[in-house]
Amino acid sequence: MVYQLPLFEQEPEYKEPTVPEKMQRMLDDPDCKILIAFSGGKDSVAMVLYLLDMGIPKSRMELHHHDVDGHGGNLFDWPCTPSYCQAFADAFELPIVFSWRQGGIRREIYRENEGLQDVYYQTDQLHHLPSRKGNSTRRKFPAVAADLRTRWCSSVVKIDVLSRVVNDRFKSGNLLVLTGERRQESAARSKYTEFEKYRSWTKSRNAWQWRPVIDFHEKQVWDLYKKYRVQPHPCYELGWSRCSCQLCIFSSPNTWASINELAPWKIDELAEMEEDLSHTLYNGLQIRQKVAKGRSFLRPDMVLRWGKEVMGEFNSPIFISNWRHPEGAFSRELSGAI
Ligand code: SF4
Repeated sequence: MVYQLPLFEQEPEYKEPTVPEKMQRMLDDPDCKILIAFSGGKDSVAMVLYLLDMGIPKSRMELHHHDVDGHGGNLFDWPCTPSYCQAFADAFELPIVFSWRQGGIRREIYRENEGLQDVYYQTDQLHHLPSRKGNSTRRKFPAVAADLRTRWCSSVVKIDVLSRVVNDRFKSGNLLVLTGERRQESAARSKYTEFEKYRSWTKSRNAWQWRPVIDFHEKQVWDLYKKYRVQPHPCYELGWSRCSCQLCIFSSPNTWASINELAPWKIDELAEMEEDLSHTLYNGLQIRQKVAKGRSFLRPDMVLRWGKEVMGEFNSPIFISNWRHPEGAFSRELSGAI
């Protein structure tokens, strides 16, 4: 199936941001810690700026970023993402916790007669959370589907990792876990609830998941960037509409062709994996065939300015004076999860 944005005949209606009463009570509790799932993409940045706009003290916020390659060598992630997240946290003087499942997506693809890999997170020290060991074999790419049971990458390297960290780090008290899904992003996300008990809620750990930007339209997100003059992740400068894994399985053919122009060795590696696993990412269609169906949207001047940085360390300023929308703003080219 080819996914294209928008997935709606009619987009969700525009609403002024409001805070549900229950979430407001949590925000009003000075002892309630606020964890923000921070990918470095625009919706996670918007959540932080929205909280700052509401006057929430920084001392209550903590950013959490998951390394989808799990310290196993760069493949799925944008190489610059961890350094962009760190630079954003430093610029706003916010703590950031990095967490990962050992080996990330690639290691899980190759799982053979073993259990899930262990989880780690880094504060001022390294924490190790062993996983229960079972015996099962994956040797398959994640399914390109909305259902998280078959599209296992999101749960294995992000959702489950955060919940393990929450369990280990917060045993009791009020806790808000913020995630940045927006209804405008996909038909599946348009049905998400705005808040619900967090998956590791207990009587003593009153943890709630809140999606504070669920009803934001993309314009509201970029308006916050503009107000705070924040430099977006460089992938937006190159034309990406969504910033998640660089090799997101939901990428359109044009996005794959652009990846191939920026990092052809990543396409080579996926092609080798397909051969090795006797399994293709796209239901019988080889990754090179997917690439060949698209056309790169990269502009040479943008590649000259951002290409090296996006494929290396982010070292530009976070606050910029001449703010303008990046190339990927309002693009309908799919490059992130639905
Ligand atoms: S961004 Fe795409 S590839 Fe990465 S975890 Fe999410 S669905 Fe999977």
